[in-house]
Amino acid sequence: MATRTFSIGGVHPKDAKISRGCAIEPLPLPPTVYISMSQHIGAPAKPLVAVGDKVKVGQPVAEPGGFVSAFIHSSVSGTVKSIGPRKDLAGNPQTCIEIAVEGDEWMEGIDTSDTLVTTIDDDNKAVLEKIRLAGVVGLGGATFPTHVKLSPPPGKTCEMLIINGCECEPYLTSDFRTLLEKGEQVVVGAAILKQVLHVDKAVIGIEDNKPEAIKHVRSIIKEFQKISSKYAGISVMPLMKKYPEGGEKQLIDAVMHRQVRSGGLPIDVGAVVQNVATALAVYDAVQKNKPIVDNSVTVTGECFPKQANLLVRVGTPLQYIIDYLGGVPADAVKVISGGPMMGKAIANLDAATVKGTSALLFLRADQTVRGQESQCIRCGRCADACPMGLEPFLLNKLAKNADMEQLEANAIQDCIECGCCLYSCPANIPLLDRIRIAKGQVLGIIRARNAKK
Ligand code: SF4
Ligand code: SF4
Repeated sequence: MATRTFSIGGVHPKDAKISRGCAIEPLPLPPTVYISMSQHIGAPAKPLVAVGDKVKVGQPVAEPGGFVSAFIHSSVSGTVKSIGPRKDLAGNPQTCIEIAVEGDEWMEGIDTSDTLVTTIDDDNKAVLEKIRLAGVVGLGGATFPTHVKLSPPPGKTCEMLIINGCECEPYLTSDFRTLLEKGEQVVVGAAILKQVLHVDKAVIGIEDNKPEAIKHVRSIIKEFQKISSKYAGISVMPLMKKYPEGGEKQLIDAVMHRQVRSGGLPIDVGAVVQNVATALAVYDAVQKNKPIVDNSVTVTGECFPKQANLLVRVGTPLQYIIDYLGGVPADAVKVISGGPMMGKAIANLDAATVKGTSALLFLRADQTVRGQESQCIRCGRCADACPMGLEPFLLNKLAKNADMEQLEANAIQDCIECGCCLYSCPANIPLLDRIRIAKGQVLGIIRARNAKK
């Protein structure tokens, strides 16, 4: 049987998973961490500590600033030195709590042992509260607060949980390593999520370029199903290696053969999607009482001498990570946070990691150079590649003309910023760049209009 995939568009960029053999190793503690209040979608968190306070690892240092928001915890033990604006990866100022690291003393009640806990004792109310208090957010890129996503609106029912283990972006391997090294915890996390969502089925989707992960997770599920009925209905589904297989709507299409309509949500078609790293964070929160204080970060690039997957404390300065691995290579001209397709260029290496930081990718000049833009030749390749069924050549033209009405009518707001159009265009037209800016403007207009209603 042919391996499943999504039905519209997609591209096949070079895999480049050159760090796939690098086991996750803990990065030594930095001297200082800078913990941002804006690590999730929604309202920034509000500081709970003051300058001079002593904090421990796992202590809440900020509370949610609204319904869609999340708790934030100290990733180290030490003293709060300052609270104020500091530039993030893009160079935008964000409120950060600066903590001078004085040790690694954890909050009482957090289980830091490696003991695997497969018995799920908590009821759903307790599970959701633990996830909320642990500050769990979607770690597949969206950073949407997980406890909100796990509470479907009235009238909507989840039929299937999908765990996204695709990691379809080139170069990234931290989810792959997590599946190999923490597969048991991910499967327990999936069972917890399945329980909360009241579903019988959970599918862990893994691209077929990761056969070791597929085999390993399948064997874990088989063993766990012998010990508890809570693991019934969990399975692995190999998926075709195609970008962006891990896009939420693309993954639902591949696994369930259902399409989320324009402007719709996965729950509209009975699906909830969570990433592998989020399932691990759910395990930590529920079974170990451990909030998100660290995350796995792939550090990679052909020009980078030491490929790595590092377990990094949240708020660690990027420069500290880079120095630990030998410094910025002489021939690197660009550093990206995330993968080459959807990642964002880093404007400021003094910025610190956030919960959602998944990778640092170093590129040489020849890997970043873009060809001279020429006239659209109406080849249609961008439309063929678009996984959202959009017409990027048209959106580009409308964006150049600032025709907001037609941009909205042509569903620019559905763009997932995957970059497939840019990747496919023989005329080197900066489709994604223009579409991304115009999409932000259209979303602003839609928000303002809805606020008036
Ligand atoms: S970036 Fe947007 S317009 Fe371009 S292919 Fe992806 S979804 Fe389509
Ligand atoms: S791929 Fe480029 S050249 Fe071809 S239709 Fe799209 S914008 Fe025009």
